[in-house]
Amino acid sequence: MTATALRHDWTLQEARDLFNLPFNDLLFRAQTVHREHFDPNEVQVSTLLSIKTGACPEDCKYCPQSGHYNTGLEKEKLLEIEKVVAEARAAKQKGASRFCMGAAWRSPSKKDMPYVLDMVKQVKSLGMETCMTLGMLKEEEARELADAGLDYYNHNLDTSEKYYNHIITTRTYQDRLDTLDNVRKAGMKVCCGGIMGMGEDEDDRVGLLVQLANLPQHPESVPVNMLVKVKGTPLENVEDLEPFDFIRMIAVARIMMPSSHVRLSAGREQMNEQMQALCFMAGANSIFYGEKLLTTSNPEADADMQLFRKLGIRPEQREQCATEEQETEALAEAVEYEATRHMFYDATRESA
Ligand code: SF4
Repeated sequence: MTATALRHDWTLQEARDLFNLPFNDLLFRAQTVHREHFDPNEVQVSTLLSIKTGACPEDCKYCPQSGHYNTGLEKEKLLEIEKVVAEARAAKQKGASRFCMGAAWRSPSKKDMPYVLDMVKQVKSLGMETCMTLGMLKEEEARELADAGLDYYNHNLDTSEKYYNHIITTRTYQDRLDTLDNVRKAGMKVCCGGIMGMGEDEDDRVGLLVQLANLPQHPESVPVNMLVKVKGTPLENVEDLEPFDFIRMIAVARIMMPSSHVRLSAGREQMNEQMQALCFMAGANSIFYGEKLLTTSNPEADADMQLFRKLGIRPEQREQCATEEQETEALAEAVEYEATRHMFYDATRESA
């Protein structure tokens, strides 16, 4: 089968036409493109850790970490490197192949950069892919991160250029594009997507996809988030998004960026199993386990593993690993363990 060629000249009308195809036609087309580029039964699994939480000077209207809104979120300082590495190790044992570290900053300060660079080196030495999101980067900072071994940089465009200033006023769309450019110049992979359900219209949704698909190089990861409405943020009462529109977004993203990983990110907890299955059918092939994976009692991760089993999905292995065999073994063990753990008596728990 000849793989669909990558294009960077999408028009808004073409994207609208895809979005408005009959649902089954759209899903069939997306799944066909998906199979040309990926194993349809593999999903990449990433884990996200907040390395610095809250008190962000930016005013993103969806975000509980913004210092502009009172959401009751507890602020935290930059985590110690040892703690980050321990959590990365735990995530790896549970089957995550990529470890994403996020800090609520406008941009990293000079004083924090050495810690951040050390974190990258140490997590990388565990044999995991590394990803960070630290806000805007200058060319030099991007180069330093790349030199430390950072594989991916996450920097979302969030929505269309037209709707952007309804959501954020403390930076511009061009600021975002400039950081993406610096990340590319430094040779890192790009993780860039957006959030649906912020009161935007259909043209804003397809506008975002056109923007992403027409970048000089498609982002390797495209997170498609569903707004999680947080009390205290300006978007807490925004109208719910039609779930089929969300699935359509995934499918159109898959068709326009055929070789990118399309990631189901925030908002997945609010989706039932059937909706997630439709998202996988539409071409989503990456998920976040989230921080809860790292706690001992972890129903979310169990539920994910059960869903994987029901759908016959395997976690994708990372592209380059220190020893391929070890990695395969670890992932197989992780899946096996999650699949059979109910069969074992936990001797560490006190009897009632
Ligand atoms: S820059 Fe990031 S952490 Fe800060 S308010 Fe915006 S989304 Fe939240």
